[in-house]
Amino acid sequence: MPERSTKFIFVTGGVLSSLGKGLASASLGALLEARGLSITFLKLDPYLNIDPGTMNPFQHGEVYVTGDGAETDLDLGHYERFTRAQMAKINNVTAGKVYDTVLGKERRGDYLGGTVQVIPHVTDEIKERIQLAAEGFDVLICEVGGTVGDIESLPFLEAIRQVRADVGRENCCYVHIALVPYIATAGELKTKPVQHSVKELRTVGIAPDIILCRTDRFLPKGVKAKIALFCNVDEDAVITAKDVETIYEVPLILNQEGLDEKVTQVLNIWTGRPDLGRWSDILHRASNPESTVTIAMVGKYVDLTESYKSLNEALYHAGFHHKARVNIEYVDSEKLEDPSSLRNASGILVPHGFGARGAEGKIAAVGLAREQRIPYLGICFGMQFSVIEFARNVAGLVGANSTEVDESTAHPVIDLLPEQRDIEDMGATMRLGNWPCVLKPGTKAHKAYGQERIAERHRHRYEFNPEYRERLEAAGLVCSGTSPDGRLVEIVELEDHPWFVASQFHPEFASTPFRPSALFVDFIGAALKYGGGGD
Ligand code: GLN
Repeated sequence: MPERSTKFIFVTGGVLSSLGKGLASASLGALLEARGLSITFLKLDPYLNIDPGTMNPFQHGEVYVTGDGAETDLDLGHYERFTRAQMAKINNVTAGKVYDTVLGKERRGDYLGGTVQVIPHVTDEIKERIQLAAEGFDVLICEVGGTVGDIESLPFLEAIRQVRADVGRENCCYVHIALVPYIATAGELKTKPVQHSVKELRTVGIAPDIILCRTDRFLPKGVKAKIALFCNVDEDAVITAKDVETIYEVPLILNQEGLDEKVTQVLNIWTGRPDLGRWSDILHRASNPESTVTIAMVGKYVDLTESYKSLNEALYHAGFHHKARVNIEYVDSEKLEDPSSLRNASGILVPHGFGARGAEGKIAAVGLAREQRIPYLGICFGMQFSVIEFARNVAGLVGANSTEVDESTAHPVIDLLPEQRDIEDMGATMRLGNWPCVLKPGTKAHKAYGQERIAERHRHRYEFNPEYRERLEAAGLVCSGTSPDGRLVEIVELEDHPWFVASQFHPEFASTPFRPSALFVDFIGAALKYGGGGD
C-alpha cells in the first residue's frame, strides 16, 4: 500500500484580528481527531521577535510554554487543550526565527554567493518548517497569524500558496476566517467585509476552499448563498462560526455546520463520522453547574485576562470535574490596600508574574489566605511570595524578600542560583519546560497527584534559596516536592491549613478539560468545601 501522504490545512484570517482563528483551528483539529486522524499544528507568526518570550503580556497575551521548553504563542495552548497533540519548539515559527536562520546561512556561505531574497530563500525556509512540523501525521493544521493584507504576512502567504503545487491539489485545503457583522440599524448581516477579505487573499494567489464566517448568529441560507457566489466557493463551504458562551462549544457548532465534513471532502479523506461524546459531556458540565465557587486571582496583568489564559482554563477544567461554575474575580495587586476585601472569596490564587510592582499586595493576599485558612494556590511568583510571607511572618525573618523585588534584602529567601547569575540575554534563558519533581509521601501535593514522580512545565529565573530551607522547614513550612537531586524546591505547602499549596512550576499548561490538572482539581475541591458549595 502506498504511504498515506500528509494533508495540509492552512487557516488565514481577514478583516480584523481576534476573530478566533486559533480556537477555530484547534476545534477543527478536535473534529478531525474525533474522526480517527492523527493531527498536529503549526502557528506561523509574522512578527520579528524570535519568540514571544520577551513580549509584554499586555500586548501579546500569555506566553505559552511547551513541554520541551519553547516560549510560544497562546494559540498553542488552545491546540493542546482541544486535542491530544503535543506542541514543541517546531510548532511555532516567527518571521524573526525564519530570518535569523536565513541570515545565519548567508553568513556561513551556504547560499554560495547567490543573492539572498524573500522568494525563494525566505519562502523555502518557511516551507521547510511546514514540512518538518507535518512529518508523521495525517493532517497538519497550519495557522497564519495576523490578517491578510498585512505587509509582514506576505512571505508566509506566498509560502503556503506554493505548498499546494508542491504537495498536490488534493492534499491542500485553504480555510479563511472573516467577520460577518450584524448591523442593527439596517437589521442586516453584511457580507462585504468577507468579500473584500477574500479578494485580498486572491491577490496573493490563494483561493479559499472554505470560508468561516464569524458572526453573532447563524447565517441564513440566503446569506450563505450570497457569500458563496461572490467568493466563488461551494455553498456548503460557507460555515457559520457563531459567538458562543463557552469555547468548548465551538467544535460541536462547527461540526453541526459541516466543517469537518467539507474538509474531508476537499482533501479526499475517507473517515467515519466523528465521535463527539466527550465534547457533549464537557459542554453539559459547563452549561449545567451544580454549584458555584468564586476564586480571587491577585495579579498584575488583571486588565488583560488574556495574559492568564491557561490559568483561567485550568480553573474552569477543575470546575467541570466538580460540576461547578468557577467565577474568577481579578484583583489588581497594586490597588489591594486592604486584603480583607478578599474574605468573600472561596479560594485565593496568586499567579505568575515578573518585577517588583504590586509585590506587597500579593504578599498581603498570601498572608490573609494563611491566617484566615482560605484555600490558597500559588503559581510560580505566587509560590515565591508564599515563601516570602512565611519567612517574614512565621519564621520571623524580618524584611525577607526575593532579590528580584529587593536586591538588598536582609533575607533573600528567593534568589538567583549561580547558573542564572551570569546570563545576559533575556530571551529563552529562564528555567523552561518540563522538569522532574519528586513528591513527599503523605503531603497534599502527593495526594493530589496520586504518584511520587511528576514532571511539570517551568518558566522562571529565581528559585527558593537552598540556604534558607532548613530554617523555614524548622518553622513549619513543608517542602512537598523537590528536584530529584533534592536541590531545587518545587512545591511548598502548609500542614495546619485546609489547603495551602504553591508550586514553582505551571501545572496549568498541561491541563485540558478531559485531563484537568490534579492541583487545580484539589484546589477547587477545597474551595467548594470552604465556600459551602458542596462536595
Ligand atoms: N519572576 C519570577 C522569576 O523569574 C517568577 C516567574 C513566574 O512567575 N513565571 O523567577
